[in-house]
Amino acid sequence: MKNKNSVFLFKRSMQSIPGGVDSPVRAFKSVGLNPVFVERAENQYIFDVDGNRYLDFVLTWGPAILGHSHPEVLKSVEETAKKGLSFGMPSPLEVELAEKIKDMLPYIDKVRFVNSGTEATMTAIRLARGYTKRNKVLKFNGCYHGHHDALLVQAGSGVATFGIPSTPGIPEDTVKTTLTCEYNDLTCVEKALRKGNVACLIVEPVAGNMGVVKPEPGFLEGLRELCTQTGTLLIFDEVMTGFRIHKKGAFGLFGITPDIATFGKVIGGGMPVGAVGGKKDIMDYLAPEGPVYQAGTLSGNPVAMACGLKTLEIYEKENVFDSIMERANKFFSELEGLCSNVKGISFNYAGTMFTLFFRDTAPKNLTEVNQCNFERFSGFFKFMLENGVLLPPSQYEANFLSLKHTEEDLNLYIDLLKEFIEKEGM
Ligand SMILES: *Cc1c(COP(=O)(O)O)cnc(C)c1O
Repeated sequence: MKNKNSVFLFKRSMQSIPGGVDSPVRAFKSVGLNPVFVERAENQYIFDVDGNRYLDFVLTWGPAILGHSHPEVLKSVEETAKKGLSFGMPSPLEVELAEKIKDMLPYIDKVRFVNSGTEATMTAIRLARGYTKRNKVLKFNGCYHGHHDALLVQAGSGVATFGIPSTPGIPEDTVKTTLTCEYNDLTCVEKALRKGNVACLIVEPVAGNMGVVKPEPGFLEGLRELCTQTGTLLIFDEVMTGFRIHKKGAFGLFGITPDIATFGKVIGGGMPVGAVGGKKDIMDYLAPEGPVYQAGTLSGNPVAMACGLKTLEIYEKENVFDSIMERANKFFSELEGLCSNVKGISFNYAGTMFTLFFRDTAPKNLTEVNQCNFERFSGFFKFMLENGVLLPPSQYEANFLSLKHTEEDLNLYIDLLKEFIEKEGM
């Protein structure tokens, strides 16, 4: 496979950008390869600067649920851009996207838009602290909520990929108020919450940033109950799971209502959008209605709003989730069959997200994910790349499906996996 241009660009990039990338996992460091520099993306495919085409299971880390470059989305973005790129004043599309989200997720009364998932969780936590007048925050090992100080402790995604438990640059005092528990460990949560002064508990309702790890039956119910009993706000971080595990996210899949929810990824359709949503009395604590300050020069940017709005409109109108699941269900049951017959691999999925783990049984928490055979994962990643399939370059990541992934595409994944298993003598 040719990669001359990617190699050259990476060398050049290393001179001007730390590590040559603007987000660490893109560097392909953990799989020991030169990163792929992308020229363009269309439908289920990514095309690199050397002319290679890849079947894409990264989908810009989730947002491209319609596939890349949907013509109607592009048209809406173009038309909106022609009217001006940013106003720094309120504009109609913000109202429309907020109404759309409320309409799709009826437990939400109000939404505040920001520019990323990180900003969304940062705002949610400040809001929870302001509202409850408490200091502490509880999170789970292996859950990733963006890169702001309070939550960058025992985080998943790139932090786990690079084996960083917490990071220099964050004062000890800042993380003193951050408590951590293992995912699926209710006993730990109960102890922490009963000690008091916990403003909020933030959780990925299905974890996606240590690979897909599912809540065990009763776990989310238990969190809801303990939060209610102790006056702790429950935050569902749905930046990844929103519109991906179910049309109505975790609320739809598990029937549990959080006090605050955070969104990103799919709601921007590929443009930088994040959001915080929740009940009116909590959301109205945000300035200018309430005392908790939060702001953004580009928040609610019209072009980004147009992109998110058109994406959600198509998602709803064309029943995108069900359509993906029709193909996904067959794919997942074949994968499950394959994994149960071969030692050393297992598999977890939720809605349109999945992770293949190089471990006998599907992990329930970060400690178990850490027991995977990472060398074998790297081999698998490389093998798939050489065969024109782009996976997230880390065992600690979720794979994504889009509307454009066909039955043949999913069969290709299965066939290649079978070939890899044989090659490895597994
Ligand atoms: C991606 C992600 C974030 C961070 O979003 P950014 O837009 O990268 O800042 C936060 N929480 C979860 C669950 C995520 O998957």
